[in-house]
Amino acid sequence: MRVYNFSAGPATMPLEVLERAREEMTDWRGSGMSVMEMSHRSPEFVGIAAEAEARMRSLLGVPDDYAVLFLQGGATGQFAAVPLNLTAEGAGAAYLNTGAWSKKAIGEARKYLDVQVLADEKESNYSTVPSQDRLQVPPGAAYLHYTLNETIGGVEFPYVPDAGGVPLVTDASSTILSRPLDVSRFGVVYAGAQKNLGPSGLVVSIVRRDLLGRARPQTPGVLDWTAMAEADSMLNTPPTLAWYLLGLVLEWVEDQGGLTAMAERNRAKADLLYGTIDASGFYSNPVAPEARSWMNVPFLVPDPDLEKPFVAAAAEAGLSGLAGHRSVGGMRASIYNAMPVEGVQALVDFMTDFEQTNG
Ligand SMILES: *Cc1c(COP(=O)(O)O)cnc(C)c1O
Repeated sequence: MRVYNFSAGPATMPLEVLERAREEMTDWRGSGMSVMEMSHRSPEFVGIAAEAEARMRSLLGVPDDYAVLFLQGGATGQFAAVPLNLTAEGAGAAYLNTGAWSKKAIGEARKYLDVQVLADEKESNYSTVPSQDRLQVPPGAAYLHYTLNETIGGVEFPYVPDAGGVPLVTDASSTILSRPLDVSRFGVVYAGAQKNLGPSGLVVSIVRRDLLGRARPQTPGVLDWTAMAEADSMLNTPPTLAWYLLGLVLEWVEDQGGLTAMAERNRAKADLLYGTIDASGFYSNPVAPEARSWMNVPFLVPDPDLEKPFVAAAAEAGLSGLAGHRSVGGMRASIYNAMPVEGVQALVDFMTDFEQTNG
């Protein structure tokens, strides 16, 4: 029996995608072999790769003057790729710090350039996002970087910052394709695949083409956006099976009605869960209402000693992956695109029962 899997990543996949992959596993569409056995240079795989790119472009409305790259090394690799591709030695860039993933991006960038942190939400214990009037990008900054959705803290930007003329760069790992995004506002959007796009192994980077051609000479080839764009993301062997599965997930999102339909579903799921938390005197979510993530919902119970029993009883009831991140404790429900509303309903029913027994 499949459980409802609330893990933050790798995360639940649409059942239809898994079933389709199973059907095609040993003989992909009459080719006589599995996708994982194909040369990445074969016409079959080149077609699979191109189709995934085309679907990503049409779903997100990616303008033609952007490259869509399928890379390895995760979002973590892109933390280094961003400064290496966008700046020369001795440059500076502006970053916003809204939590754990921002901090990691900043730490990696500091190896390569002078990081200026424009806003740090420490004072609110990372439960807020800075308002636009606090974002004065200094002259000379090469770009402004922020984390669109903090997967651990459950904090999501409700607006696209104005970067004051420098390229805006965002880590959209845990929110990409959850709702429409105006890509034309960005210089670079990157996202690790294992939250909303498919299995782990790929990171998608969408790069405005005028930003190509600036990589530092020592940039590793596999992190070099220009080299990767020229090689159709196949400078080396890509994770072919992950790329194929990502394509199936994109096709599934299309079948659901695209990003407008995803947004409606995701809003309804988030409203149901936050509504349950807010209406109870038992559960709490620390995030400022306007910055609450639609994808990752951390919550607490009044007594930390109830956390382990909550997670254990939930698992018993077929609700998996609800323990909070090891750095913060508490609970967290990740309700990505592939989590059906029935899963969130099952969770809130369980929460209500647990409160009645333990409240
Ligand atoms: C998961 C995650 C990452 C890290 O992704 P890796 O693929 O492990 O490198 C980075 N940023 C955000 C916002 C994430 O959710």
